[in-house]
Amino acid sequence: MPRPPHHIRAVLFDIGDTLWHSRAAPPPGEFRRLAAGRAAAALREFGIHHEDPSLVARTAWVAMEEAMRTARATDCAEPDYGLVSQRALAGIGLDLSREEAAALLESTYISGIEGGKAPFADALSTLTELRRRGFRLATVTNRAFGGERFRTDLRDAGLDIGWDAEAVSVEVGFLKPHPAIFEYALHRLGIPPGEALMVGNSLAEDVLGAQQMGIPAAWRRSAPDAEGVTPDYVFDELAELLGLPILAGPG
Ligand SMILES: [Mg+2]
Repeated sequence: MPRPPHHIRAVLFDIGDTLWHSRAAPPPGEFRRLAAGRAAAALREFGIHHEDPSLVARTAWVAMEEAMRTARATDCAEPDYGLVSQRALAGIGLDLSREEAAALLESTYISGIEGGKAPFADALSTLTELRRRGFRLATVTNRAFGGERFRTDLRDAGLDIGWDAEAVSVEVGFLKPHPAIFEYALHRLGIPPGEALMVGNSLAEDVLGAQQMGIPAAWRRSAPDAEGVTPDYVFDELAELLGLPILAGPG
């Protein structure tokens, strides 16, 4: 009998636009209004006044996005967002500690249900069925904010299934497609690359990152963000994963 190409024992999931989406997100103006309110509250807490909390929120956020973009285009090392925010806010006359700047930045992150995050309709049932079949399940996600906040957002979205491993870029120190974040997940699961399947919607981060590590990848069809990347599997709805022969049961 020929061996199937992969004996899969674990499935690694990207989160954004793979397991949840933000179609119900508030309009940008509402995000900005909320973020400005949070920035004002954070500054009040530090006993600092700034006449334009909107500018404060925007300055910290833009600096974070810029740092993340640069990291993605270069070494994929997660920036120190507290430091990034501290420097940017110093540029508009705010003298904050790194910790204060980090707290202010995170406070302006409108996330979870408030940010309009909702799971895809078949996300939980697909994860539950994969687990029933004996697969170990892990997240491999690029996010600037991890910790309890992220776990709460997952829980609120009904996606806190008791993950066997969670690789969050800001906690691991590297962004997908860097091998370190995949290695982290595999290490936590205690399995070699060929026994995992990566599932995600980004060719550049999920598919390429996984394949470079020897992990096969299933791509949730989306607007392509890379050229010359060929996923091992392609699907449109999560439930289709359950029909893949390699996911019939752990190898
Ligand atoms: Mg994604």
